[in-house]
Amino acid sequence: DVVKNSQVSEPKVDNLVYKDDDLAGQAKATILSLVRNEDQKEIISAIRQMEDHFNKNFNYPYTFLNDDEFTEEFKEAIKEVVPTDRILQFGRIESEIWDRPSSIDDEKYQQCIEKLDQEEVQYVKKESYHNMCRFYSKNFYKHPLLQDYKYTWRLEPGINFYCDINYDVFQFMELNNKIYGFVLNLYDSPESIRSLWTTTMEFINSNPEYLNSNGAFEWLKDNGQKPNNFNITGGYSTCHFWTNFEITNLEFLRSEPYEKFMDFLDEKGGFYYERWGDAPVRSIALALFADKRRIHWFRDIGYNHAPYTNCPKCPPDSNRCNGNCKPGHFTPWKELNIENCQPVWIKYIMNEEERNLY
Ligand code: GDP
Ligand code: MN
Repeated sequence: DVVKNSQVSEPKVDNLVYKDDDLAGQAKATILSLVRNEDQKEIISAIRQMEDHFNKNFNYPYTFLNDDEFTEEFKEAIKEVVPTDRILQFGRIESEIWDRPSSIDDEKYQQCIEKLDQEEVQYVKKESYHNMCRFYSKNFYKHPLLQDYKYTWRLEPGINFYCDINYDVFQFMELNNKIYGFVLNLYDSPESIRSLWTTTMEFINSNPEYLNSNGAFEWLKDNGQKPNNFNITGGYSTCHFWTNFEITNLEFLRSEPYEKFMDFLDEKGGFYYERWGDAPVRSIALALFADKRRIHWFRDIGYNHAPYTNCPKCPPDSNRCNGNCKPGHFTPWKELNIENCQPVWIKYIMNEEERNLY
């Protein structure tokens, strides 16, 4: 019995929707991928694994977005790896939405990225990377192809899934009133977000009513292994949800606090004058404006995006991961180090019972 054999080994027992249940595949949800034509091979590998481990049982549609036109070759190649009844949407992002806005001062931008490049901030000289971070922060969920959806599961080229996910993840979000799902927490390069925290505090000072009294504040503030980060950011540890995997309830992004915050950040220009990532931006917004109990760690999803991996603990008799992601290998759950801040989430946000599970 496949279902029985692959029960999740965490307290995820209530309200699970399995493949033959009435609600299976019925959430207003899409798998979302921002990709370039040249990422074809890597996105196909990711889709194959998504289908094999999850979506063959739930039939959720895919939405592909690109700042360029998708080629016929790309679209045909995607169609070949999914069943013929799978809904596929291919969309173009308008250049007014994607490109660096004219409000960014060109000379200042050039100077800033030169300086950050000397500090070895990754990708800082790639303008498309700045565009991508801004797009994923403030614009993706406004794309016409996403208007009728409530949830997106972000899928990046080249990632790996290792274990079967036998329940409907979107219905899990829906039935448990979750607004965000993640698998890994990391510290960021503080030089890339030098003024993000102070800018955030400025916003909060003018809009204190947006703060959620149940926010995950401690998670933003535990400087653990990186005492120098506070000096650079002015108070933020840089710990963030690693957004290359994220399951998002778009209603949160479409809410007033989130959108006002995005407008405020955009006006400050830090997506270009610095290299604010969508990960710290989204994480700060969630930790401040959302109830932390509505943010879910999918510790049971075996996931890899180079160079990090989340490996769930499987029941001893389980074939859920088929040896592909070593059961019980909690990379890198337990060990607080200069990259991994998952233990900070475990320490402050999870309750005693959950914490004692490993
Ligand atoms: P990293 O994970 O931080 O190294 O960044 P990636 O290069 O993986 O980019 C993050 C996501 O945005 C991936 O899904 C990429 O396919 C996508 N992406 C990044 N830059 C571009 C771009 O210029 N155009 C398009 N269409 N997608 C992009
Ligand atoms: Mn990536």
